[in-house]
Amino acid sequence: MDNIILNNLIQKIREYNPTEEKIIMKAYEYAYNLHNGQVRQSGEPYIMHPLNVAYILADMHADKDTICAGLLHDTLEDTNITKEDIAHDFNQNIANLVNGVTKISKMNFSSKHAQNMANTRKIITSITEDVRIIIIKLADRLHNMRTLEFKSEFKQKENALETMEIFVPLAYYIGAYRIKSELEDLSLRYLKPDMYKKIEDRKSRLEEESNKCLQEMLFKIQSLLNDKNIPNEIKVRTKNIYGIYKRLNEGQRLFDIHDLLSLKIMVDEVANCYYVLGMIHQEYHPINDKFKDYICNPKTNMYQSLHTTVFGPDDRLVQTQIRTFDMDKVASFGLTAYWDIKKGNARYEMQKDLKGKFQFFKSLTEINSMFGDNQEFVSQVKTELFSDRIYVYTTKGDIIELPKGSTPIDFAYKLSTDIGNTMVGAFVNDEYVPVNYLLKNKDRVRIITDELSFGPREGWEDIAHTSYAKKMIREISK
Ligand code: MN
Repeated sequence: MDNIILNNLIQKIREYNPTEEKIIMKAYEYAYNLHNGQVRQSGEPYIMHPLNVAYILADMHADKDTICAGLLHDTLEDTNITKEDIAHDFNQNIANLVNGVTKISKMNFSSKHAQNMANTRKIITSITEDVRIIIIKLADRLHNMRTLEFKSEFKQKENALETMEIFVPLAYYIGAYRIKSELEDLSLRYLKPDMYKKIEDRKSRLEEESNKCLQEMLFKIQSLLNDKNIPNEIKVRTKNIYGIYKRLNEGQRLFDIHDLLSLKIMVDEVANCYYVLGMIHQEYHPINDKFKDYICNPKTNMYQSLHTTVFGPDDRLVQTQIRTFDMDKVASFGLTAYWDIKKGNARYEMQKDLKGKFQFFKSLTEINSMFGDNQEFVSQVKTELFSDRIYVYTTKGDIIELPKGSTPIDFAYKLSTDIGNTMVGAFVNDEYVPVNYLLKNKDRVRIITDELSFGPREGWEDIAHTSYAKKMIREISK
């Protein structure tokens, strides 16, 4: 059995990186020997777990160090070797990655809870050092969630909850959409099994019903594109079960969810995305207010696509998503797509873009520097970063990401400390608002500043919602 999976891994690696098979085989044998005799709760040899984690990583075309670290990821925790051994037998990079995904030893803590908090902090902050640690952790969690049936019911619920609270937001932030949606569905299956089953049934019935209409559209668009010699690929995309569950929870009915099923149209270049858009609007009548241009206005996790909802055959509403092949890689895999797109430089480009382009990164660094206590750090991250987000516009049309509950004060400090410190008032959608106004999605915010301002007013610290704004107000009021 394990041989088949090992062959799968090697096969997968040959597809994109045939020259580095040797070190990966070495890591496999190393992990195999170290875990020899250990079994998983399913009864299978322990090595099956790291092997599957490595396979999930290879599927993303991860670099060799990451694959090796995936194979070795449980050796520090569960066997007798040390980080130094791995550095000596492989390299420092692999040793650092394995160390990054390893739990801090129980011996350093007074309680299980304290150890948990420290480990959660370690996972979350590892993103600031090397995002590949998070990616390995996500692959690890994904395989554990896929094989959760062998755990006790209590453990299943506990793991599912932790997955929703910590790993789903992390996957979201690095844009790893495919992992995120699988983790969500696996969690929901254990947290609300009846609900999961019900939605799953209704979804597959709806898919059957819509299949003819979607296929008809797909073929029509495809032949129009082929006539124009535009390289293309078209797929039917369905919302995940959790995505539907969330909408139903918000009070929508199943047939109101217009993006439950969509057509994903991929073409070679940006200009052709707009060509396809025009073509679709000529063939099918669009609904005006459902058009979104995420190519010119990318989401804060770098997602880019055009969305338009049209009346398809039988007057069924169909959402179409139009993007380039590269945009689609980023849409499905986020930063992990860099392994594919940026090749040799991927590792550095990932860390560079994470720092430069992802707004949550700065907030995370701030919170990390402000909260010494692990418990406080974790709860702050949960309320400020891992909870509901809102997206508002600057006067220039840039998108600013803030936690729900933010005010114009938070917005001002997010733009810059200077703007926050000299703020005297704010306009939202061209109307003057009080500073405790709660910002909503798509608000357009203009901050009024005055050079002669004495700084934030008394009481603003309590009105501000984000840690950074609060801290800055405290500092300037000293
Ligand atoms: Mn593991």
